[in-house]
Amino acid sequence: MLIAGNWKMFKGPTATREFFASFSPPASVDVVIAPPYVSLAAAVESGGTIYAQNVHWADEGAFTGEISSPMLRELGVAGAIVGHSERRQYFGETDETVAERAEAALAAGLGVIACVGELEEERERGETENVLRRQVSVLPDDERLVVAYEPVWAIGTGKTATPELAQEAHAFVKSILDRPVLYGGSVKPDNAAELLAEPDVDGALVGGASLDPDSFAAICRAASSRS
Ligand code: PEP
Repeated sequence: MLIAGNWKMFKGPTATREFFASFSPPASVDVVIAPPYVSLAAAVESGGTIYAQNVHWADEGAFTGEISSPMLRELGVAGAIVGHSERRQYFGETDETVAERAEAALAAGLGVIACVGELEEERERGETENVLRRQVSVLPDDERLVVAYEPVWAIGTGKTATPELAQEAHAFVKSILDRPVLYGGSVKPDNAAELLAEPDVDGALVGGASLDPDSFAAICRAASSRS
């Protein structure tokens, strides 16, 4: 079981140190935290497994605002999220750029959590499987790659996929790429156990509820009872 927290654009270095001072997850669960770039060094000090929220495909170059895999490795960062729906929606990320980022990070020895998921209107039009096939089939088959299925309509909305719907999507993703699949989309302490009980749900990618050390630890405990 892997429980990953995506802090998005929350918590500078001081708030990051405060979080780790009171965060105590069970040892039986793999926990990843992805803070903003400026807080990576403070998070690495905690001794936990720290991921960036994105990574560029080049090692260096004229790419203003981007960060490379060697830079992350130098800081002691263990991996990166790629293809989060907010990157796809607001920053022009495409299936191709997501795949390029994932390939470069894996080649540099980083772990990767690659996010996929359909929009609400795509689900309503019955296009979920086509969207997932398109997004997943470009990802590299690598032992350090984990997929996160995050239906976009469930992210930050308080709407969660039912366990059955998540299971169905995870099984479909695995039929294309046989890698662990995390569920993401309004995972909270009170719904984590039922989602994590599904056979093809291998963990969770948590946004809002990962910002509070107690609620994130509660989700990690829900995972630990399934491990
Ligand atoms: C996310 O940002 O990956 C996410 C799943 O957010 P939330 O848990 O807040 O829906």
